[in-house]
Amino acid sequence: MDHLPIFLQLREVPVLVVGGGRIAQRKIELLLRVGARITIVAPQLTAELAERAGRGQLEHRAARFATEDLEGMRLVIAATDLKLLNTSVSQAARARLLPVNVVDDPQLSTFYFPAIVDRSPLIVAIGSGGGAPVLARWVREQIEALLPAALGALARFMGARRDAVRRALAPAARRPFWERVARGTAGARVLAGDPIGAERAYARELRMAQLTASSATGAQRLGEVYLIGAGPGDADLLTLRALQLLQQADVILYDRLVPAAVLERSRRDAERVFVGKHSGRSRQETTPQAQIHEWMVHYARQGLRVARLKGGDPFVFGRGGEEAECLARHGIPYVIVPGITAALGAAAAAAIPLTHRHVAQSVTFVTGHPLQDDALDWSALARGHQTVVFYMGVAHLERICAQLTAAGAHPSLPVALIERATLPGQRVLRGTLSRIAALAERAGISPPALLIVGEVTALAQLGGASDSAYGPTAATAGAPHPLESAHEC
Ligand code: SAH
Repeated sequence: MDHLPIFLQLREVPVLVVGGGRIAQRKIELLLRVGARITIVAPQLTAELAERAGRGQLEHRAARFATEDLEGMRLVIAATDLKLLNTSVSQAARARLLPVNVVDDPQLSTFYFPAIVDRSPLIVAIGSGGGAPVLARWVREQIEALLPAALGALARFMGARRDAVRRALAPAARRPFWERVARGTAGARVLAGDPIGAERAYARELRMAQLTASSATGAQRLGEVYLIGAGPGDADLLTLRALQLLQQADVILYDRLVPAAVLERSRRDAERVFVGKHSGRSRQETTPQAQIHEWMVHYARQGLRVARLKGGDPFVFGRGGEEAECLARHGIPYVIVPGITAALGAAAAAAIPLTHRHVAQSVTFVTGHPLQDDALDWSALARGHQTVVFYMGVAHLERICAQLTAAGAHPSLPVALIERATLPGQRVLRGTLSRIAALAERAGISPPALLIVGEVTALAQLGGASDSAYGPTAATAGAPHPLESAHEC
């Protein structure tokens, strides 16, 4: 290791900055955030710096640098584009044993600025020895994505309770207690911006820690459940919160629609339990919902953190509502994380705008499952100037299209069928209400697929979908009608 990362307390500490341009400005904004007393030596300042000087936030010496400027300074930064000047600032500072940074010049610097992930009071600093700042910034981006935006709030939450916990718990119990707070319900509540829920979970955790310490048998700890939407398939479409909680969960209960690439993003040592359609002989059999409820409760009661990972969004045709109700009934804490529902993923991947100022003023998500037929208002769904997206409809295309036509929709109304949206091998099949079922049959479209009905599906043919990131297989649909084509995307 060539450099020691340290965190400097700079409040009211005199710092000299040589240079008054854009680069100097960036450093100065950083220094102002930590309360440094800044003096700039530069013939000219940017408008922003001049304004700050005018407001008394920093002192400006409108002159060229002279060695006397270092008098009384504790830290020096040279941010000019004049090599000679930078060199003489560096030499003069080093002669006085002052730490000096010359922007973008590790040779002339005795310290350098790391890339920063700021979740104050929690701060992550990344350095590359000054040699590869681009790499340091890249690492920063990765960490930015992984660390919740409200991590600072969590650090403050914990900091404010440190003394109380010190009084309440023996030293050996404190670390495991804080780990449970940070990674458990209390932490998740703080991160979700729910201070009341966080306080309640924290109090429960503290009570539990005290009970465990005082009882010979040890009290049974309660775990929690994360109802997570996994998005339409592409692992990059997971939300940041989904990713963070997947990294925490001890057990993952996942559905058939959750691809391996998404599971890959969970903690390596987490137990993975498949609760979707059984493979083998009884292919149509699904794990009964009651069984899933039982598992969630069972694992949570063992004190484990359970991720219930569902395709798309848990509250869109996902029975997430029933699962939340079950958890509430059993007094098990849970967190709900939305996901990109298949309709949004499919529309984006096929470049179909779901609403459009001129042709569709509303969008409706409908189940295409025949059991719900009586519950649907087909004449409302058949009306113009809207988009209707059918989930779970592939096996029932003919019936859906017939119902819509019977309710008044024009047989030539454009539609699109998107199979395996956002996944490798995605196919987009375009057609009309009267012909899509036959086209789908010929192309061998199978679930998961979505039917989008409405004029918007014809707009997308203007372009865009062919630039899609998802794997190309053109659906072969015979000689296409102008509105009926297998679109490679
Ligand atoms: N909760 C999920 C929907 C579950 S219902 C969500 O919000 O997306 C299952 C139906 O979703 C499938 O029958 C199919 O119609 C649709 N679906 C899910 N993933 C899909 C995908 N990658 N491509 C196309 N349709 C998909």
